[in-house]
Amino acid sequence: MDTITATGSGRLTGPRTVYNADHEMFRDQVRRFFEKHVVPHHRQWERDGIVSREVWRQAGEAGILCPMLSEEYGGAGADFGYSAIVIEEIARTNCTGPGFPLHSDIVVPYIEDLATPARKREWLPKMAAGEIIGAIAMTEPGMGSDLKAMRTTAQRDDDHYVINGSKTFISNGQLADLVIVCAKTDPAAGRKGISLICVPAGTPGFTKGRNLEKIGLHAQDTSELFFEDVRVPVENLLGEENKGFSYLIRNLPQERLVIAVRAAMGMEVMLQKTVDYVKERQAFGQPVIDFQHNRFKLADAKAQAAMYRVFADHCLALHLRGELTVELAATAKLLGAEMQNKLFDDFLQLHGGYGYMAEYEIGRAWADARVGRIYGGSSEVMREIIGRTL
Ligand SMILES: Cc1cc2nc3c(=O)[nH]c(=O)nc-3n(C[C@H](O)[C@H](O)[C@H](O)COP(=O)(O)OP(=O)(O)OC[C@H]3O[C@@H](n4cnc5c(N)ncnc54)[C@H](O)[C@@H]3O)c2cc1C
Repeated sequence: MDTITATGSGRLTGPRTVYNADHEMFRDQVRRFFEKHVVPHHRQWERDGIVSREVWRQAGEAGILCPMLSEEYGGAGADFGYSAIVIEEIARTNCTGPGFPLHSDIVVPYIEDLATPARKREWLPKMAAGEIIGAIAMTEPGMGSDLKAMRTTAQRDDDHYVINGSKTFISNGQLADLVIVCAKTDPAAGRKGISLICVPAGTPGFTKGRNLEKIGLHAQDTSELFFEDVRVPVENLLGEENKGFSYLIRNLPQERLVIAVRAAMGMEVMLQKTVDYVKERQAFGQPVIDFQHNRFKLADAKAQAAMYRVFADHCLALHLRGELTVELAATAKLLGAEMQNKLFDDFLQLHGGYGYMAEYEIGRAWADARVGRIYGGSSEVMREIIGRTL
């Protein structure tokens, strides 16, 4: 198997200014963690269709999970830059199995912002320790992009909600110990009738379907979830009833930035791997890079990856200041996912038949990247969001 060579910082654009020295020290720590606890096991996890529970606990111990969570709940109270570094190291190692960013940067913030104090004390320290793994369930078999069309309901019954419905494509779904379920508490009110309710695994009536077989992200577990008269106490509601949609919208920029940060690093790393490969590989008596067509392809790729890196870092800097808009986050997600898919396809082509072999990273990265245009809001939905601002 080929090895990882790119360092990740400044290779395309010169020194990056979005991170400080403390961030870079944290990067060293995260990098050591991935090289020791993730990289050696990842091919096995791809065969298993799931990562080990152990790596979650190891990540918790190493302080890799929930960097932004406040210290009183076991986090580091750090900024999103630390989360971005974890995301970049996932992209750098091409180890897409551990759903750490979904847990740390998407699920946990909802709970920290919106759960009752008692629930925060109960769940958050364990989430920081990797003992409780989180997931969020919005998508249903009949709808994904159009959230207001969801059919899962949560009916109030005294001091409980009774949840009925099903969800699909839920990341971390098999491993999840706690799922934020998006459900209609006022079915007649469209998007204004959606609430977010936490459902612990093991609650009677809550079952997990099979681990879905995907064309990429083979080490990441993705599941159907079923809810049949699932009773959870009203204290499991996040924030206020019927405000779920606005909470989702509020957190989406960060979710989309996760995808953008990963795309920027993915392009940088896979470009370097491809350059290494075409320098070695010979065809018609010369290295493949010596054909002008291929050099030009790679020059274009480098120029685009450099431009995207600057833009992604700009969005990251805005987010660190609390100024990333829904529109810019959508722009970053759209461009990152589309450009990454285009470039990875070119990179795979430059590897010839080896690119199509699972043992070469570019083939796996190409398949993994495809979902970037679909989840977190599809590219078409991103264009709708941007289009509305014209
Ligand atoms: C690997 C993976 C992991 C996922 N993880 C999660 C998760 O953890 N939690 C979760 O809730 N969901 C998750 N999803 C679901 C994902 O968010 C949805 O698949 C996505 O939102 C698209 O919804 P859909 O599949 O229902 O497609 P649809 O909404 O049915 O869309 C079908 C097509 O129509 C297009 N379309 C839709 N609306 C418009 C429009 N207004 N204009 C133009 N075109 C449009 C779409 O872009 C797409 O091309 C995951 C999906 C995958 C594949």
